[in-house]
Amino acid sequence: MKVVTLGTAGGPRWWKGDAKDRAGISTAVVVEDRFYLVDAGHGVGRRIRQAGLELGDLGGVFITHLHSDHTIDVPSLIVFGMHELQHRADSPVPIVGPGDRGALPPVSERAVVAPKPVAPQNPTPGITGMFDNIVSAFATDINDRVLDSLRPSPEVLFDPRDIEIPVGIGYHPNGAPTPDMDPFVIFEDDLITVTAILVEHPPVAPAFAFRITSEYGSVTISGDTCETPNLVRLAQDTDLLLHEAIDFDWVGAMYEHRTDEEGRASRDHHYKSHTSVEGAIRIATDSRARTLALHHLVPGSADESVWRRGEDLFGGTFLVPEDLDTLTINRVAATARS
Ligand SMILES: [Zn+2]
Ligand SMILES: [Zn+2]
Repeated sequence: MKVVTLGTAGGPRWWKGDAKDRAGISTAVVVEDRFYLVDAGHGVGRRIRQAGLELGDLGGVFITHLHSDHTIDVPSLIVFGMHELQHRADSPVPIVGPGDRGALPPVSERAVVAPKPVAPQNPTPGITGMFDNIVSAFATDINDRVLDSLRPSPEVLFDPRDIEIPVGIGYHPNGAPTPDMDPFVIFEDDLITVTAILVEHPPVAPAFAFRITSEYGSVTISGDTCETPNLVRLAQDTDLLLHEAIDFDWVGAMYEHRTDEEGRASRDHHYKSHTSVEGAIRIATDSRARTLALHHLVPGSADESVWRRGEDLFGGTFLVPEDLDTLTINRVAATARS
């Protein structure tokens, strides 16, 4: 089992001045002859190529939440991907992610005039709704290929599925987006089991962390979140925790001179929705994760030293992977050696 960090930057932008040239957040989990994707940030198709992975071996796509930095290349996977997945009509690729939010978030208290939502007739689509919208948006291209070239359409080659949140846990997208809960299974095949838990990333709801377990070990991916006890529950004794990290010094400097309400609302979002390096280390320590690797780095252009400043605080292995690094998980071999 290997994890390949395809893209390690967070945030809905192309970072400037980035010596490491980090692509948008996306992680490949490779188990035997198959690989699985968690999130599909910008550049994921090229990164899959550069990692030496074959799209035809894609076992599933798992989306933590519907922020654009995690989904911007879902369309390219679907529309370009159909040409490499022609043999998958009998085994379509699952795309598993959050369902419809069900309600718009409340308008910020800082609003002077209440903004109007876009697409008011369908303002909060989940992953299946997003899939349908993508296919509709590219219908001219797709129909040419389906009718003229007789290619199977993305509707045949992919299998979008909304994650069903367990009933009875008290979840509500606005009132209670992160109730205390147990992890629950969202996907299983002959190689892996994926469990999920709700994490805290307001105003996004639902927002999930995922744990992928195979016979070789486990990797837990935080998604975007502030420090949350639910993640500690999901990541208990995991072999590898990939946790997001933000540099709050950068946030402070960026919004220091902003006194307008839009600037304040944006700054508020970062503080209540993301995790510092020290916070990620606390979560990894409480989870007893063997290895902590930071990713979804914001800003994506920061020097590595920004992310390494707390590494002495962690008792296990501490990593700040670059794009296309490979992290091997092999609990079977580790047990045999010890
Ligand atoms: Zn993000
Ligand atoms: Zn996010």
